[in-house]
Amino acid sequence: MSDRVLVYAPLRLEEASLSPSLRRRARVIRSGAGPARARIAAARGLAVDDARGVAIAGVCAATRPGLDPGDVVVASELRRPDGTTIPVPGCHLLAGAVRSLGLRAEVGPLASAEQVAGPSERHYLAETGAVGVDTESAWLADAAAGRPLAVLRTVVESADRELLDPRTVLWGTRALYALRRASEALAGWADALRPRRVALAAPRSFCAGVERAIEIVELALEQRGAPVYVRKQIVHNEHVVASLESRGAVFVEEVDEIPRGATAVFSAHGVAPAVRMAARERDLDVIDATCPLVSKVHAEARRFAADGNTILLIGHDGHEEIEGTAGEAPESVVLVGDVGDAKRISVPDPARVTYLTQTTLAVDETAEILDVLRERFPALRGPRSDDICYATTNRQQAVREIARQSDVVLVVGSRTSSNSLRLVEVSEREGATAHLVDDDRDIDLEWIADARTIGISAGASAPDRLVNEVVDAIGALGEIEVAEATTASESVFFRLPPEVRTR
Ligand code: SF4
Repeated sequence: MSDRVLVYAPLRLEEASLSPSLRRRARVIRSGAGPARARIAAARGLAVDDARGVAIAGVCAATRPGLDPGDVVVASELRRPDGTTIPVPGCHLLAGAVRSLGLRAEVGPLASAEQVAGPSERHYLAETGAVGVDTESAWLADAAAGRPLAVLRTVVESADRELLDPRTVLWGTRALYALRRASEALAGWADALRPRRVALAAPRSFCAGVERAIEIVELALEQRGAPVYVRKQIVHNEHVVASLESRGAVFVEEVDEIPRGATAVFSAHGVAPAVRMAARERDLDVIDATCPLVSKVHAEARRFAADGNTILLIGHDGHEEIEGTAGEAPESVVLVGDVGDAKRISVPDPARVTYLTQTTLAVDETAEILDVLRERFPALRGPRSDDICYATTNRQQAVREIARQSDVVLVVGSRTSSNSLRLVEVSEREGATAHLVDDDRDIDLEWIADARTIGISAGASAPDRLVNEVVDAIGALGEIEVAEATTASESVFFRLPPEVRTR
């Protein structure tokens, strides 16, 4: 197979606007305008069987209001007038590359019409969800025949403009200039086309505590109706929060934002006793979604403090879990954030020192901190069982395994997720380049362009659905062989609290 891609540009001006870098990587076919010419050009493209992928580049009319001449439409799907649709997977990777060039890019269905669409037809297409309309792409796409496909069009007319407006020449110039710039992104896309191996970490994604917390909010909404108030993010993931919000959950920072007597859910990270008291004072109907493994750490904090110990709490300052645990015994807790803190801190009585940890810390980093603390305080005592939870430990072990095999590791998770951030750090300590992504929209094509093996994991708060989307996006760049690296199996299950239990 050649290292070139096949690029369609319908008209001479569109062809002339393709960037030199794309031309170097492409065999360009000028299809001509309209469905009939597009069908003929697609048949020609099918015969070019050594192209690694097929790209369609040109201009279009916008159907979605708000798109201006020079904006870029990246097709997620092509639609023919007869209702046939052609999916374009991996479109978010291309859109990200376009945006990184400083252009505005909209991702969505692109309709192909039998003839140039006027304002009323564009209005109708907008109601069906189409972002733009042209007269070739859906037919040209036949040339892909299973090969990677990318469709990029720049807007020449906004949705509400009449055809042949006197400003058409100005808009055309803007659209063609944008096409020249945006086709740089297509060159990047072409470079990223190759067969790959995907190493999936197992376990990954939801842990038992996160599943339980999400189910609690869902059941509260079902049993009590919206709104259900949730103090802080129920779990640290933007997608989970947005999905629950769309069903009627209202996320607040503090209980004083919740109306008196309303239903309030405490997040999986736990709360300090002062928060429980504030909720009682507001007569809130509280459902506690604190993970039982976090509650265990709280109980240890109370026990150690009651015995007159100083508690060295290893964790990240400002994290909700640390605030909750420290709040159990604020007078007794000394926060230890890193090895430097461990070397500096002092305690009133070195014979009565204990430690506890956040549940989502890096296992190896915590061990280094503990080595320093043990050396300084030989009488140091710890919890009965490890505070770093089973899910954190297992996910770190699994990501270490895939990091060793991979050129780059993608960790699916939100920036607020401590355990997802730790997975990135653990991968980096294994020598891999690693990136945190909320979903496939965050992937930079340049990160993966040269990678032959891509490792993928996900933090305990990230849905596995997002991992599948990332795998599909990578699969849109060429054939992939997916192998799962399983380092542990999990069967942990936590009972629901009585307030929402139905059996
Ligand atoms: S990561 Fe661990 S402590 Fe946190 S919710 Fe999951 S199981 Fe519980």
